[in-house]
Amino acid sequence: MKNVIAFIEHKNGAARRSSIEALCAARTAADALGGTVHAVVAGPQAVAVAAALKAYPVDRIHVLDDAALGKAGIDPLVDALESVARSAGPSLVIVANTMIGRDVGSRFAARVDAGVTADVTGIDVKDGRVACVSPKLGGTTITTCAFKNTEYGVAAIRPNVFPVAATAGAGEIAELAPSDKTYSVTVEDDVEEAAAELGVEEASVVVSGGRGMGGPEPFTGMLHDLAEAFGGAVGASRAAVDAGWISHGHQVGQTGKTISPPLYIAVGISGAIQHKVGMRTAATIVAINKDAGVPIADFADLLVVGDAFAIVPELTKLVREAKAAHA
Ligand SMILES: Cc1cc2nc3c(=O)[nH]c(=O)nc-3n(C[C@H](O)[C@H](O)[C@H](O)COP(=O)(O)OP(=O)(O)OC[C@H]3O[C@@H](n4cnc5c(N)ncnc54)[C@H](O)[C@@H]3O)c2cc1C
Repeated sequence: MKNVIAFIEHKNGAARRSSIEALCAARTAADALGGTVHAVVAGPQAVAVAAALKAYPVDRIHVLDDAALGKAGIDPLVDALESVARSAGPSLVIVANTMIGRDVGSRFAARVDAGVTADVTGIDVKDGRVACVSPKLGGTTITTCAFKNTEYGVAAIRPNVFPVAATAGAGEIAELAPSDKTYSVTVEDDVEEAAAELGVEEASVVVSGGRGMGGPEPFTGMLHDLAEAFGGAVGASRAAVDAGWISHGHQVGQTGKTISPPLYIAVGISGAIQHKVGMRTAATIVAINKDAGVPIADFADLLVVGDAFAIVPELTKLVREAKAAHA
């Protein structure tokens, strides 16, 4: 494995932030391996996405701009990645640890008989060998896995862990030839989640609500407003999701998403172990709870004791004022 390929997810002409993180992680790994960094961008508006990628440390950007791919599911994306990997030669492929990233990465791995490591928080390169660090069992165990297949390997990196370096590389554009395959899947409808632009996995600030919210309104009202003021996303405990106050895509925890944002704000959430395992690696944890003895106080950096319905709107006001003052 010498070169490193970052698979780029994008929407409406912009790359996802977690894919930019994958690209920058690719640079670090490629420098250690003595190889080059490739990016693969396929689908509608891929040319615009590729142009923006030139601001990042990538050597070659492989582009397949085809609006029809937006309706063809995952297979054409895997085809694009595979054709780049076959021409680049032995490579580490880095995808974001998202639904699409894991799907593309694992299908590609099956085609080239490579190993896949998911939820990767560190990539070590030693003597030309790549090993991936990833937390398991809710973060209680940290594993380091090397690839047996030394030709290809896939790492799905956890969003918000790898730093972004806005340093331009050669950024050479290479057009990919479209596949002549007929794909068996057609995407009939693409339903946009109304809640937030960013998913909880990618947001740098996540404002989560729990049973203490008492109903669905705070999720579209005060929690949404606070998340929006920060430019973040709304999360939830399972209690809130099970009550039908917000969709499962927002759930943080053992049976939801595992996230590591720089700032996590838990509002009316007690901090059960099944919730904790999904957010314990957040850099800073703030809890807002009316109970001073709530379990989340044991692992939060800051506990604000009081009624969330009084605190959250005040906090939103302060965040907006601070942002306006620094605009
Ligand atoms: C197999 C399994 C998997 C699970 N997976 C998950 C998971 O993925 N994610 C998850 O979150 N849970 C999960 N759970 C459930 C978990 O055990 C807890 O039941 C759940 O996290 C509790 O949610 P909560 O903190 O919102 O509710 P509660 O524990 O009921 O806490 C509500 C909190 O709100 C506070 N509060 C109430 N009113 C206010 C107010 N006005 N202002 C401020 N604070 C207020 C209360 O003091 C309390 O601390 C799982 C459980 C099992 C068994």
